[in-house]
Amino acid sequence: MIQPIFLVGARGCGKTTVGVALAQALGRGFVDTDNYLLTTTNMSVADIVAQEGWDGFRARETQALKNVTSPDVVVATGGGMVLAEHNRQFMREQGVVIYLRAPAQILANRLEAFPQEGQRPTLTGKPITDEIVEVLAAREALYRQAAHHVIDASQTPDAVVDAVLAALQIARA
Ligand code: ADP
Ligand code: MG
Repeated sequence: MIQPIFLVGARGCGKTTVGVALAQALGRGFVDTDNYLLTTTNMSVADIVAQEGWDGFRARETQALKNVTSPDVVVATGGGMVLAEHNRQFMREQGVVIYLRAPAQILANRLEAFPQEGQRPTLTGKPITDEIVEVLAAREALYRQAAHHVIDASQTPDAVVDAVLAALQIARA
């Protein structure tokens, strides 16, 4: 059965990078909920949060998730998509959910190497490593709850794609 593949995990775990490569390997479409929000609203995440608060952003995120979901798509979700129980339930019911898991230090190294300042406000205003440790601790259980499969995302993107394909029992095209 063809069903959507949802990638969940913290900022920097590789949802976009791996999602693009996975979609290519499967000959599927790729969509990123953050990017979908950006192009449909013409606002950055920071803009939406500034104007509508995190609650407003979360409501838009839930709608984006529903709008982008179709059977043959790979969906990279925003890092906070799993916070709402209804989002977790929707993804689990509609498709296969993959948690791309990496230690906080690796996430911090990646985000420091490619700072995308202004794209998203920090959640706590603290140094990035501290914030990642805190956010991961708060969300780890939710990522696991949402996921059908937990994949080690500290490997190279290619190896992560292979691990996802193996978990899904799909051979590379
Ligand atoms: P996310 O969409 O989960 O926030 P990205 O795919 O945007 O993560 O990746 C964040 C940064 O980390 C990017 O600069 C990307 O090139 C890098 N990156 C992603 N996955 C890997 C990986 N498996 N190994 C090394 N660097 C990676
Ligand atoms: Mg991304």
